[in-house]
Amino acid sequence: MARYIFITGGVVSSLGKGLMAASLAALLQARGYKVRIRKFDPYLNVDPGTMSPYQHGEVYVTDDGAETDLDLGHYERFTGVSARQSDNITSGRVYRDIIARERRGDYLGATVQVIPHVTDAIKAFALADQDDHDFILCEIGGTVGDIESLPFMEAIRQIRNELEPFQTLSVHVTLVPYIAAAGELKTKPTQHSVRELASLGIKPDVLLCRAEHPIPDAERQKIANFCNVRREAVIPALDAPSIYSVPLQYHREGLDAEVLRGFGITDAPEPDLDAWNDVTDRYFNPEGEVTIGVVGKYVGLPDAYKSLNEALVHGGLANRVKVNIKWIDAEIFEGGDEEITARLEPMHGILVPGGFGERGSEGKIASVRFARERKVPFFGICLGMQMACIEGARAAGFAHASSTEFGETDEPVVGIITEWMSEEGLQSRKQGGDLGGTMRLGAYEAKLARNSHSSAIYGGADVISERHRHRYEVNSAYIDPLEKQGLVFAGMSPDGLLPEIVERPDHPWFVGVQFHPELKSKPFDPHPLFAGFIAAALEQSRLV
Ligand code: GLN
Repeated sequence: MARYIFITGGVVSSLGKGLMAASLAALLQARGYKVRIRKFDPYLNVDPGTMSPYQHGEVYVTDDGAETDLDLGHYERFTGVSARQSDNITSGRVYRDIIARERRGDYLGATVQVIPHVTDAIKAFALADQDDHDFILCEIGGTVGDIESLPFMEAIRQIRNELEPFQTLSVHVTLVPYIAAAGELKTKPTQHSVRELASLGIKPDVLLCRAEHPIPDAERQKIANFCNVRREAVIPALDAPSIYSVPLQYHREGLDAEVLRGFGITDAPEPDLDAWNDVTDRYFNPEGEVTIGVVGKYVGLPDAYKSLNEALVHGGLANRVKVNIKWIDAEIFEGGDEEITARLEPMHGILVPGGFGERGSEGKIASVRFARERKVPFFGICLGMQMACIEGARAAGFAHASSTEFGETDEPVVGIITEWMSEEGLQSRKQGGDLGGTMRLGAYEAKLARNSHSSAIYGGADVISERHRHRYEVNSAYIDPLEKQGLVFAGMSPDGLLPEIVERPDHPWFVGVQFHPELKSKPFDPHPLFAGFIAAALEQSRLV
């Protein structure tokens, strides 16, 4: 029987509910329980696939090809459990399905309403695919009191009423602000938020109180009294020096013990926190540092490259070094070589990440050229690999080499492939089709060339599986001239049609990949490509 933990947020947004859910799941997992985390997003987009990274941060892609909220990335990084399509739902998806059924006549003429139809759909989603999980954590996006989240709150209320006693638990994340002028922490916003939640029929069992200053005992007791929870269930959640300290910090504050107590579990094994102790030890005690220049487009908003940022940190953990990341807007390189040299010369590694659209592409291509010519470790991801191939083609004499994503070109080194085989059969996409859901998405296998650098990076593997999210592919018609120029196609799709990895054997570390390895990296299991890239950057730092 799966137990349910519902996580809501109050007072303000951006309290780090996702990280909290991921940390609690990691702690339960460390005690030997099987966990899964789900995200309920109240917005009306069907999925985050078409949302701007500026507004919503990165789109996190699962093995089964879902484009999901970036919180699912936290969940996976902290628990190692692969997220699935059925772990993220939005109001948009719920309404889309209900309206489609209504049009088909499935409701037999009944009036279709928020209660019960929308709430039933949310409940069905929460209760589906329980498998043999011990705990299913459900994070509700937004803040209590939002109009959009009301059907989700109502669904939770009903589930709590319908399941067994001690089968569900409500964790509410709030803010205890510090008012400098008064020199005091204020509990009133928390009281109001809990009252709001209670008015929706949900009584929280555990309060996680985000605060910048320690919460004195008297304040803790006051929150307990006013909010009708045990004093021990008022968990102070102070700002952490790193996201990787959060599980250990919450454990010290008693979060997992209190949650288990809420379920009436008194005989839980003590958690094995060795992996988290090792991660924090590596993070806080680096033995060196490297600086990586990331030449991209959405550099103003760190969340737009969330997984990439974390994977670079993981590469640092693998090598026990601190990774300084310099986010560089590719467009500034379009002014000329001087700017490129000034910005990129101090870098120990250059990374061109995934992206969409033409803007900044010439700056990215110029960065590839700098890395190739100066023999600086280079890592190209998705669009970054495509740019590496266009750069190689230009070096091979195809002066107009480009991608059809950027407009018509007579040298389409990167272009759209309209049909390809996947495990589900023939897939297809059209130029100019709907933007939502027309990409090569999710896990695909790649065959690695024997004795290639890439196969060595993957520990000698012949076949790997990585996650994709792109519409365009490197055009295999250019493989021959590109190989003559020095690029080796070290990874191909199993049918041999789609280039997956390119590398340069005459370069200390030059790898371009069509997939997104950053999505699968974990702090306790850094992705080999990131571990290898940072190791090469460390070598480079010793040279300069
Ligand atoms: N824009 C490119 C494509 O659609 C690359 C996408 C990406 O980097 N994720 O193929």
